[in-house]
Parts: sequence; C-alpha cells; structure tokens
Amino acid sequence: MTYHAIAIDGPAASGKSTLAHALAERLGLVMVNSGAMYRAVTWKILREEIDPADIAAVIRLLDGMDIHCGQDGCVSTIRIDGTDPTPFLREPEINANVSTVSAIPQVRDRLVALQRDYLKRTHVVMEGRDIGSVVFPHTPFKIYIDADPAVRDERRSGDGEIDSVSQRDAADSSRKTAPLKVADGASKIDTSSLTIGGVIEAAIEILSKQGFPLPRHLPDEEPPTPMRWIYWLGWMSFGAAYRTLFGLRIEGAENLIRSGPVLVASNHQSYLDPPLIGNLYKTEMVFFARKSLFKGFGKWLYPQWNAIPIDQEKPDMSSMKTVIRNLKEGWRVLVFPEGQRTLDGSINEAAPGIGMIAAKAGVPIQPVRIYGADKALPRGSGKVSLARITVKVGPPILLSPEEFKAYSNKEGYLALTERIMSAIKAL
Ligand code: C5P
Repeated sequence: MTYHAIAIDGPAASGKSTLAHALAERLGLVMVNSGAMYRAVTWKILREEIDPADIAAVIRLLDGMDIHCGQDGCVSTIRIDGTDPTPFLREPEINANVSTVSAIPQVRDRLVALQRDYLKRTHVVMEGRDIGSVVFPHTPFKIYIDADPAVRDERRSGDGEIDSVSQRDAADSSRKTAPLKVADGASKIDTSSLTIGGVIEAAIEILSKQGFPLPRHLPDEEPPTPMRWIYWLGWMSFGAAYRTLFGLRIEGAENLIRSGPVLVASNHQSYLDPPLIGNLYKTEMVFFARKSLFKGFGKWLYPQWNAIPIDQEKPDMSSMKTVIRNLKEGWRVLVFPEGQRTLDGSINEAAPGIGMIAAKAGVPIQPVRIYGADKALPRGSGKVSLARITVKVGPPILLSPEEFKAYSNKEGYLALTERIMSAIKAL
C-alpha cells in the first residue's frame, strides 16, 4: 500500500502543530511532530550533562541511545531509553539548546530515518523544518507556513514559554545541513492574521489543488447529525453488550475517518459484525442486510437502522446502485466484500462488487478486520460464547480522482478489490 505524506514546514510558533493536528484528525492521518524528536534528543543530552556543543560526546551518546517512535491515537510519541520525555520538552533549557543539537548531521540522519519509517506503516502529516525539502522531497503535498515574528513571539509568551523564537529561527535557517527553507513545490500560508479555522481552510484548499484525495465532506461543512432515537437505541444496546460480553477492543481507532462519505470494507465472521462496525462511529451509517430479514417487524426495524436489503443468491445491481448513491450523498457505508460469513475464521475470496462500488463512488476506503466474532457467534450456531472480539482499523485507502478513473473498468474493479482485500488481510 502506498501511503501519503503531507509535509508542513515553517519557523517556530507559526502554527504548524495546530494545523498538522487538525489535518490528522480530519483526514485519518498520523500527525508526526518532528520538532519533538529533536527536543527529545536534546533533553537526553542535557540530562546526561553533556555539552550540546561537544559534537564528539553527543555522537557517542547518540550511538548508544535507544529511540523509539510510535503513535498514540493520531499523534506521534517518542521514548528515549524507555522514558517518555514529553513533559519536559518545552522547558527553557531545551528551547535554548535544541537548535545546536539539530544542526549536528549525525543527529539529523538518525531522526530523518525514523521519520521516514512512519510512512512505511501509515499516512502521515509531518511538521518541522525540512520535511518537504529533505524528509519527503517527492511528496506532492507540501505547505510552508509563516507568521510575523512579533505575532510568533506573542504566541509563545502567550503559551507561558520562555523561547527566543527569532534566535532559534536564525540558527535553524542558517545551518549547513537541512536549513529551514521553503521546499520546492510548497505553497505558503501566512498565518499572522488568520484564525485557526482560517489556516485549516487555506491548507485544505492548497491540498486540494495539489491533488490530495480529500474526503468530499469535511467536518465543518457537515452539520452534526445526532442519531435518531431508534438507531441510537440499537447502537447503544449492542455497543454496551459487546463491551460487556466480549470485552470489545478497538485497535487503530486513530485511522478512522470520522466524517463524510467512507466505504468501510470489513471481513465478515458473524451476525454480530454490522453493529460492531456501527459502534466504531458516533454518527449513523448505512449497512446491508439479507432481503429475507425485511419481513414483519423487520420490515419496519431494518430501514430504521439504515439497512439496505440485498439478495445474496444472485448479483444484486439495484442494491449496488443504492450503495453508490448513498456514498455520493455523503453517507458512510459498510460492505462485506466476501458477501458471506466465514466458516472457519479465515478470509474468503471477495466478490468483485466492492471494487466496482469503490471505483464508482470515488470516496475514501476504510479497511477493517474483525477478530473473534466467529467464536462469539459462529455461523450455523445460535449460541453466543464469551469470546473476546477485537476490531482492527487500518489506514484509509485514499485515491485521487485519476486513480479512481484508472480503476473504472472490469480489470480495474478486480484490481481494486484485490487492493482492498490485501489491506484487510494485512491487519
Ligand atoms: O518545531 P519545534 O519548534 O518544536 O522544533 C524545535 C527545534 O527542532 C527547531 O528549532 C529546530 O532546531 C529543530 N527541528 C529541526 N528540523 C525539524 C524539526 C525541528 O531541525 N524537522
């Protein structure tokens, strides 16, 4: 799977972190604060009472340093020799020394490699000084943000920080290795007189021009849609029951795109699956349900739960069309590409329907894998067991309009189906 990187560079206190965080939440990316990595190494150096200007000593310490970069929700984390230094990273001594440390090429080499590692496993929005120029020079998605020095000084002191922003900028811009500069292909935003919302809007517009596959509806464009009571009742009861009976665990929640149209593609193990997926979200979504369920009380209930009847016996073009229309209207829709529940827990061959739906709808695809529901309520058995259920959410498959177009034929549907199934299997 290819992952996208959005590079945000700019001087201190220009608003990079705020923007990166907002984009990560809206687009289902992981926000990586590269400055925190340089700060963490600086913290360790000072803690070991090494002079940051003593390059040989810094390199010796660095060689034996265990640096672990991970993520918690949609934000990056860092541990140095097993300790999380985050609470100390904005202290005045770090502000005063980080530019000296970050100018050392060996420090940069080590951290740039760790920064690039993120892109092997997820979409990222990374902020720093050299992200568009050095870390991800080939990404088409680059933003440079800036603000008047007076405004930036004010922001930092407003945060209660002692930080000589202009001194740090001068050092970061004039160093030999990877100086702060506007990367080739980057678009600029001046945040001096913009609100946070204004900065985000400007960034979204830039990303759209740069061809980033943005979800059609972003949160602020969409009014919050509270659940209707009957949907809520099902959502709440199933959610509570699953948590109690099956210790429902969700991994990768940071990858969820929480608003706008999303095609959720999951493996299928049990009748428990649809409400399981519905519980990943706090707003309503659309499901498929067997045609035979729409009888008697079911005829009233299932449509209340946004279920579209599907004929499992034969290819059902009319339900496919309904799903594509729903996605185009901005709904989140759950599809089980395999069609049938598994008999033994393994993932079966997919029908090509999912590839066609995905290519025609042109919306983000969210791969999800369910574990344990086949034990909790196996196919062919009416008995519920207290097996643990885990749902793993993968990074969204975000495709540009051109990529969707390339998938819009018979072979394309198959290829896209394959791609979606591999993403599910990889979880
Ligand atoms: O972004 P932040 O102000 O937290 O960065 C702290 C310092 O880390 C910067 O002043 C700079 O010296 C260094 N840095 C860097 N390259 C990056 C990110 C930060 O040199 N990509």
